[in-house]
Amino acid sequence: MSAPLDKPIPQPGILEIAPYVPGRSKGLGKGTEIKLSANESPLGASPKAVAAYRDVAERLEIYPEGSSRALREALGEVHGIDPERIVVGAGSGEILQLLTQVYVGVGDEAVMSQYGFMTYPIITRSAGGVPVVAPETDYRADISAILASVTERTKIVFLANPNNPTGTYLNAEELDRLHAGLPSHVLLIIDSAYAEYVTAEDYGVGISLVERSENVVMVRTFSKVGIAATRVGWFYGPSHIVDAVNRIRPPFNVSVPGQAAAEAAARDLAFTHRLRDHNAKWREWLTAALSGNRMRVLPSQGNFVLVLFPDIPGKTAADANRALLDAGLIVREMGGYGIPDGLRISIGSEAAMRAVAQCLKDFMNV
Ligand SMILES: *Cc1c(COP(=O)(O)O)cnc(C)c1O
Repeated sequence: MSAPLDKPIPQPGILEIAPYVPGRSKGLGKGTEIKLSANESPLGASPKAVAAYRDVAERLEIYPEGSSRALREALGEVHGIDPERIVVGAGSGEILQLLTQVYVGVGDEAVMSQYGFMTYPIITRSAGGVPVVAPETDYRADISAILASVTERTKIVFLANPNNPTGTYLNAEELDRLHAGLPSHVLLIIDSAYAEYVTAEDYGVGISLVERSENVVMVRTFSKVGIAATRVGWFYGPSHIVDAVNRIRPPFNVSVPGQAAAEAAARDLAFTHRLRDHNAKWREWLTAALSGNRMRVLPSQGNFVLVLFPDIPGKTAADANRALLDAGLIVREMGGYGIPDGLRISIGSEAAMRAVAQCLKDFMNV
């Protein structure tokens, strides 16, 4: 018998987790800051989503419909998919956590790309699993490296597509190739959080791959399209995965206002298209404005760009971040992602984009 423990002890892996640090939301306290650090919608929420949210305010004593049925039916119509194979969660964060809890146990492995989304290692460890990191080639997921990282212990491969924070993506044919190389017991999680912003014609959101296989899910979120505050995300997958996840999903996991706002947002395609068009225009503009000038802007399909700064004293990413903060512009530092020479800048309003470009050009003296 081991000695009695004098306090509750967290499960293996928990204390190896470095807590997630969200993008800074406060600058230097001038009160006029522009937040470009969390990839939120530059055009606010769909007015229809706001109205739907308000409409439910008089009935707050009533529990939600537990399976988010009306929202699943709306998603089914909009995306042409089966509502019975959709699970809705409190943000896609909850969805990713539930999927991991179902498939990863102590000592199991989950493979993720080097500069992949930061919550994947956290939720893997929270299930007692071991994150295995596949190196990228020039800030892009490397299919061979991912496949070479798979072992008998691998339960999940996580792929954000397009990826946050790099903005790079694998096209539909590459996604098929990745899937074809995986053993069929490995779950491929395609996190299409930025799907609404993609303009590349060779992109595949993941629906057809889900429909052609038994080991793929497509995860989506409403957070990047205007209603991050309501915390709604979902996945589409094979029935056997939907069934397993629904067994551990908390019974009323998505709030009434969340379901209502998300249903209206899902149906408001005109608003989503406005968002996409605004984003595409200013993403391209900012990329062109900053490129060269000793800054490298990675080609992005998301609602943000990753800018890489030179290793020149006074001109580093940390220096640039200070200049931006002085100008009231809050962007995302990348040290936690292992990209200390980068800053991730969300696409915002026209005024915000012009201010960022002016500030960084002045900073670089160009
Ligand atoms: C922002 C983001 C999410 C969304 O998380 P929510 O919990 O739905 O807000 C998921 N995946 C990636 C890659 C993201 O960047």
